[in-house]
Amino acid sequence: MTVRLRTRDGGETAVTDERLDALRATFRGPLITPHDPGYEESRLVYNGMFDRHPGLIARCSGPADVIDAVNLARERDLLVAVRAGGHGIAGHSICDDAMMIDLSAMRGVWVNPAERLVRVEGGATWGDVDREAQVFGLAVPGGVVSTTGVAGLTLGGGLGWLHRKYGLTCDNLTAAEIVTADGRLLRASETEHEDLFWALRGGGGNFGVVTAFEFRAHPVGPIVMNAVVMYAASDAPEVLPAWRAWTAGLPDEVTSRAMFWSMPASPLLPPAVHDRDVLLTAAVYAGPPEDAVPILRPLGGFGTPLADLSGPMPFRDVQRLLDWMFPKGQLISYWKSVNLRELGDDALDVVLDRGLSRPHPRTLVHVPQMGGAVGRAGIHDTAFGDRSAAYLVSIDGNWTEAADTEANVGWVRDAFHEVSDLPSAAGTYLNFSGDQDLDSAGTRAAFGENLDRLARIKREFDPENRFRLNNNIKPANTPSGEKSEK
Ligand code: FAD
Repeated sequence: MTVRLRTRDGGETAVTDERLDALRATFRGPLITPHDPGYEESRLVYNGMFDRHPGLIARCSGPADVIDAVNLARERDLLVAVRAGGHGIAGHSICDDAMMIDLSAMRGVWVNPAERLVRVEGGATWGDVDREAQVFGLAVPGGVVSTTGVAGLTLGGGLGWLHRKYGLTCDNLTAAEIVTADGRLLRASETEHEDLFWALRGGGGNFGVVTAFEFRAHPVGPIVMNAVVMYAASDAPEVLPAWRAWTAGLPDEVTSRAMFWSMPASPLLPPAVHDRDVLLTAAVYAGPPEDAVPILRPLGGFGTPLADLSGPMPFRDVQRLLDWMFPKGQLISYWKSVNLRELGDDALDVVLDRGLSRPHPRTLVHVPQMGGAVGRAGIHDTAFGDRSAAYLVSIDGNWTEAADTEANVGWVRDAFHEVSDLPSAAGTYLNFSGDQDLDSAGTRAAFGENLDRLARIKREFDPENRFRLNNNIKPANTPSGEKSEK
């Protein structure tokens, strides 16, 4: 059956059965249309805000499939969304009537223990990487939920439990293979397409479809010391300043965060926290567990904890600890974040105020500590931009009823503006940014002075802005002053 697909200019084009059959003759993965079995399941992404219906899902099996999909998109001028783990908060990886280039079946991971390098296909999740890398006692710094995709997280930066010791995920990228808008498969590294390699480390999905990433890995675990202490949220006025003071003196081995959240009455949790609003303080020590004990001990002494779940734990389990709180498709999410050069008393007041007035139990006010190795990279070393943040404040709105969307989005935006107005605010982290916020001011705030170079690289590799469903960087004007973008 003919499918009607959206074009870049907002029109539509019909792709006939014959054209799809010709593609199917060589395409190794399935080409899924709304008429095919499995379509409903295939279009599901994490964020329940985006109940969208792509016109065609091209589930690729390898770079050749990706090349064919990109060529079809160019030939028919299709609007294209690119999906890996499907965790994008802004919903860019799915779009009504567009073609989705879906890498979620490309999840291979190969570890080279001698060189401490890990090669990861473009649709893998962090759970895939941890499973394979931990066989060799290695880890690539990734995110804190194992179902998140490697691709979106890496291309936008990437912070987790190891970032203060080993840097952002993108800082550990050694090479990437990417299908660009003209259908070429390129390899980008320090010595090949260096500009492109620079742009891929923070510049998002603007430059093509990454089919494989290569990362530097580090010895971590298999057992690490993991500290998780939950205090009553009402104790936060005492606990939060104590946490801040403690984090000020930490070695890079420790990555810590504080989170206002509400704990469900789950058998996975001690009864003392069931249905309670908590201030959860947590830390992971990236080094020998025995060294961690005296360093992490103070975390349990900032007040009277409701629960202290700290102890040695397999690194893989640490990485999966929060998964069940983020079920696919069941939460509606809208997040916004602000980098802060310091967590002054003014910032603490806002965090406390917002943390204690969250509109939904699943909403988080999340404060990861930054600094360490993240801050040692220069602004211009990667596209990521400003590295001066000592902390990040992320307002992660999550709720379940569509009728509550307007109120929750409004609350997150108000909170975001309060934090952004602080004198220590230094831009935003685009991986934690919801839809409708990505005007040019948003990308300028995130990329700062790197935006102009990114726009020039965009012009070189995607002059017509074919990859535009992302935190979009517009191609720079051509040297003659004319824009080539449609
Ligand atoms: P997708 O929705 O599949 O992709 C997001 C975007 O990335 C796409 O729109 C596209 O522009 C681009 N993209 C995806 N795949 C490719 C590819 N192969 N080639 C080119 N472009 C591509 N971030 C952190 O830094 N640390 C965390 O700990 C963390 N935890 C999270 C936990 C949850 C539950 C969620 C929902 C998000 C979390 N994030 C975290 C944010 C996360 O980094 C971003 O949402 C990221 O975009 C997710 O990547 P993905 O591949 O899963 O998403």
